[in-house]
Amino acid sequence: AVNARIDKLLSSMGYGSRREIGGLAQAGRIILDGEKVNDVTRRITVTAELPRRMTVGGEQLDPVAGLVILLNKPAGVTCSHSDAGPLVYDLLPTRWRRRDPAISTVGRLDKETSGLLLLTDDGEFLHRVTSPKRKVSKTYRATLSRPLNGDEVELFASGTLMLKGETKPLDPAVLKVVSPTEAYLTITEGRYHQVRRMFAACGNHVEALHRERLGQLHLPEDLIAGAWRQLAGEERQLIF
Ligand code: URA
Repeated sequence: AVNARIDKLLSSMGYGSRREIGGLAQAGRIILDGEKVNDVTRRITVTAELPRRMTVGGEQLDPVAGLVILLNKPAGVTCSHSDAGPLVYDLLPTRWRRRDPAISTVGRLDKETSGLLLLTDDGEFLHRVTSPKRKVSKTYRATLSRPLNGDEVELFASGTLMLKGETKPLDPAVLKVVSPTEAYLTITEGRYHQVRRMFAACGNHVEALHRERLGQLHLPEDLIAGAWRQLAGEERQLIF
């Protein structure tokens, strides 16, 4: 476990400058093991249990590292740190924008795509989920503007579909038809606008796109659009 100065640690977690952390402590707003912290230059051992031992401004300390957030992304927000906005990061506590290492989205969804989106400060986890070699499956519910022709299931499964402007055919994908204009599509790649372009290749148009599943991790039904929660360790195992 790492040893860190309390002011440096809290500052890296977005709670304020070291000076502001000092001010919080002077106001008696930082509590460790039930006692007010007076000296913020003191070093503490940083463990996973620390959030259970410390409060800042009356609230339990955020997880220190290895944060994985499950967000039900609403349509209309961007997976970017720098866009004009609104951004997915605007849906999270503001201090999380100042965390170091920064929190990033695990892959991206288009601005108009909704549903399951992970965010993390854990670079290794991010890489495991997004690495093309791992072929983590992603399931989307697509609402189409025109009825399906009937040959899409076979075409998507064939491993021969070529997207406009590309030179390598898509890996096989699984289409489950729900109604003439509604289907679930499971893909294992993440090419640019892939789902929208697959339906465009069939002369159709995606009106609404919602990610329901990543590996075997389903978007929880009780997580409303715009809501988020931390992903538990066991849930992470469902992805791979
Ligand atoms: N495919 C798309 O076209 N858009 C997304 O957001 C995700 C997959």
